[in-house]
Amino acid sequence: MSSHAYRNLKLCTKDCLCLFVCPTGATDNETGQIDFSKCIGCGACAKACPSHAITMIPNIMPKIQPKSKEMVDELFKIADNKIKEIQILKGLLTEEKTEENKLIKALIHSNKVVIEDLMREAQFMIPECPKSHELLVLLSKNTEVQDIANELLEKIEVNE
Ligand code: SF4
Ligand code: SF4
Repeated sequence: MSSHAYRNLKLCTKDCLCLFVCPTGATDNETGQIDFSKCIGCGACAKACPSHAITMIPNIMPKIQPKSKEMVDELFKIADNKIKEIQILKGLLTEEKTEENKLIKALIHSNKVVIEDLMREAQFMIPECPKSHELLVLLSKNTEVQDIANELLEKIEVNE
């Protein structure tokens, strides 16, 4: 199996077409997600889905392009500024249901999305990459998140 199916539950309209075409029953799972252990990567469900809710994910990701230290440092600087912006915006939020608060919440969300993109660019958000692995090793020494970090270290293979 060189890929496996992933269902985006937000797009799924539950018309069950993927259940009819799946040869292994992998799409029929109590959690609503596809059962990876049964998926043989045939892609029939993704082709049948009228909502484009199913994506085929390669099991081995393409090699990550290296980034220079200068580039990573710049990405971190921009991310730091975005974090500061979020902190300022949170300070302006009140409990009231006003248009201003809606706008502030939207700005906080948009800053978070930008930070995710920046971290991905800096190679920290692809689970298989060596940098994420180093981060998990570091986190595994922190007693508060040790169990989760160790579990992820066991499950995620490092892929250059
Ligand atoms: S890719 Fe094939 S085996 Fe996997 S869930 Fe879809 S239809 Fe089933
Ligand atoms: S075919 Fe697509 S929309 Fe229909 S149940 Fe499957 S994932 Fe959901």
